[in-house]
Amino acid sequence: AIPKEPPKIKRLEESVVNRIAAGEVIQRPVSAVKELIENSLDANSTSISVVVKDSGLKLIQVSDDGHGIRYEDLPILCERHTTSKLSKFEDLQTISSMGFRGEALASMTYVGHVTVTTITDGQLYGYRATYRDGLMVDEPKPCAAVKGTQIMIENLFYNMAARRKTLENSSADDYPKIVDLISRFAIHHINVSFSCRKHGAGRADVYSLATCSRIDSIRSVYGVSVARNLMKIEVSDTGFKMDGFISDSNYIAKKITMVLFINDRLVDCSALKRAIEIVYTATLPKASKPFIYMSIVLPPQHVDVNVHPTKREVSLMNQEFIIEKIQSVVESKLRSSNESRRFQEQT
Ligand code: ADP
Ligand code: MG
Repeated sequence: AIPKEPPKIKRLEESVVNRIAAGEVIQRPVSAVKELIENSLDANSTSISVVVKDSGLKLIQVSDDGHGIRYEDLPILCERHTTSKLSKFEDLQTISSMGFRGEALASMTYVGHVTVTTITDGQLYGYRATYRDGLMVDEPKPCAAVKGTQIMIENLFYNMAARRKTLENSSADDYPKIVDLISRFAIHHINVSFSCRKHGAGRADVYSLATCSRIDSIRSVYGVSVARNLMKIEVSDTGFKMDGFISDSNYIAKKITMVLFINDRLVDCSALKRAIEIVYTATLPKASKPFIYMSIVLPPQHVDVNVHPTKREVSLMNQEFIIEKIQSVVESKLRSSNESRRFQEQT
C-alpha cells in the first residue's frame, strides 16, 4: 500500500480562533445576558433593565445606571483580554468583581453586532460606538444619554449558521431562561432593581424594586405562594458562612428551584443540590421538590473561579465538609418544622 501522507498542520487565522473561542463564552442568548448583567453589577449599578427580541437572537439590550466607560477606553473596549478588573494573575485569588478576563464583550462582537452607549459622571453628553470582530467601527459619536451604560447585541450568531438553526427552533427558546436568570440575580442583589421584558411589551416579566428584605424580594419575584412557605436558614462554621431560605413542608412544586450564590457569583453546584434533594426526599416525602436560595461566603482563596468558560461552575476547597454541614442544618430545620406541623394537626 502507498503510505498515506499526514495532513498538513496550518495556523488558523486569528478571526477564526476568536470566533471559536467566542462561541464557547457566549453559548446562547442567555449567556450574553448573564455577562452583560455581571458587567452592570461590576459597574455598581442600582438599576438594570433588560429588553429581549426574538428570544435574544434579534436583540438583547441591557441598560444600567453604573459608572459608565471613559471616552478614551472606547477604542479598546471590545478587544479580547482588555479589562479594568484584573492586572496580574495573582489578582484572581482575591477578585471580587464578576468579570476578570476581558472576554465577554469581545466575544459578543465576534458572534453579533454590538453597540455601546455610555456616559460618565459629570459629562454633558455621552458617546455611542459600534463594534465588529473586536474592533470599534467608527469614531464614537456624541449623543444624549442618561447616567450609565447601555449595551445592545443584535443578530447574535449571524455568522454561525448551525448554532442559529438550533436556537431558532422554538423548543430552544431562551426567553424563559433569561427570565429565570434575572429572577435569580434579583433575589440575591436586593439593593439593585431589575426588570426584564420582551421588546415592545408593556409589562415586564421580572420586576424588582430595591429593598432591604430578602423575603420581600423573593415574594415580588417568585410570588406569595413561594414566599409564605419559606424558612430562614443560617450556618456559620470554620471557613464558611451560609444564609438563605428553604421551603417547608407546605411548599409543593414539580421541580426543584435552587438559587445558589458563592461569594456573590451565581453558580451551579450539582453535589450540593443532590445532597439537599436527598434530605428533602427523606424528611418530607410528599413535598420533596424544594425551593432553595443560598448564599455561601468563603475566603476568596478557597474558590477557583476560573475553571469554566462561562464561569458557571466554580471549584471549592473543602467542598465535602461544606456540603455535609449544610445538609445537616437543612435536615434539622426540616425535622423541626415537620414536627411542629404534626403537632398543630393533632391539636
Ligand atoms: P471583564 O468584565 O472580564 O472585565 P468584559 O469584556 O465583560 O470583561 O468588559 C470589558 C470592560 O468593559 C470591563 O472591564 C469594564 O471596564 C467595561 N464595561 C463593560 N460593561 C460595562 C458597563 N455596563 N458599565 C461600565 N463598564 C463596563
Ligand atoms: Mg464582564
